[in-house]
Amino acid sequence: KEKHNDFSEKPHEMSRIKKVIGIVSGKGGVGKSLVTSMLAVTMKRLGYNSAVLDADVTGPSIPKAFGIKEKASGCEFGLFPVKTKTGIDIMSINLLLENDTDPVVWRGPIIGNTVKQFWTDVIWSDVDFMFIDMPPGTGDVPLTVFQSIAVDGIIIVTSPQELVSMIVSKAVKMAELMHISIIGLVENMSYFKCPDCGGKHKIFGDSHIDEIAQKHNLKVLAKIPIDPKISAACDKGMIELFEGNWLDPVAKILGG
Ligand code: ADP
Repeated sequence: KEKHNDFSEKPHEMSRIKKVIGIVSGKGGVGKSLVTSMLAVTMKRLGYNSAVLDADVTGPSIPKAFGIKEKASGCEFGLFPVKTKTGIDIMSINLLLENDTDPVVWRGPIIGNTVKQFWTDVIWSDVDFMFIDMPPGTGDVPLTVFQSIAVDGIIIVTSPQELVSMIVSKAVKMAELMHISIIGLVENMSYFKCPDCGGKHKIFGDSHIDEIAQKHNLKVLAKIPIDPKISAACDKGMIELFEGNWLDPVAKILGG
């Protein structure tokens, strides 16, 4: 695998990982974890082996969305990811902490190191697509993660409530700095489809995502509606059952 920078670490020698996609956002709460989970599910449904590396150490929400109750196990060679019901490999800090509700109050360098170990010390045996739920923003921690893991491309998740123009500019700069290509943008909470009238309502107003994408020569890959069924599926740990084909265009690009 081609190295993206001088700092990137080698994955565990028993790991076999083909493609690594980072999912980034400007701040928390826009649906980055949701998009990460749904991408892993979408690729799994298409027959690929998919995995999620939960690098959002201070707000880990991946295990809950998949309803994972067990903890990660290890052997003398390394740690094993936990498999979801449909066979997606997951590693998250919550699979290592004894108590899920313990807050992670570590400082940046420790968090960076933990994520690095999810890459170097976990045995990811046969992964076609690994999706990394990145820490939000473009600060120290996401930068460290990008430096230590050879990411093939990133997907930027935005929502219409944000200053999307600024977030996209920052993410573009970060990607350039790290020599990582941007696969495109996903707009979450784009609209609400009324179950009664069938009309599409733009709850947060017009988003301007298309103009912003065009300005940076990026693709808008998907627009995901606000859907109470999505949040219910996350809450119940049943994200693998989500209905909707919003991310199929992304799958097409990734699958080639
Ligand atoms: P982030 O990873 O960006 O912090 P999450 O993916 O954890 O955000 O999403 C925050 C919350 O919003 C979660 O409870 C999630 O279920 C909910 N949510 C995200 N996107 C949608 C959506 N399109 N429709 C309904 N609920 C959503």
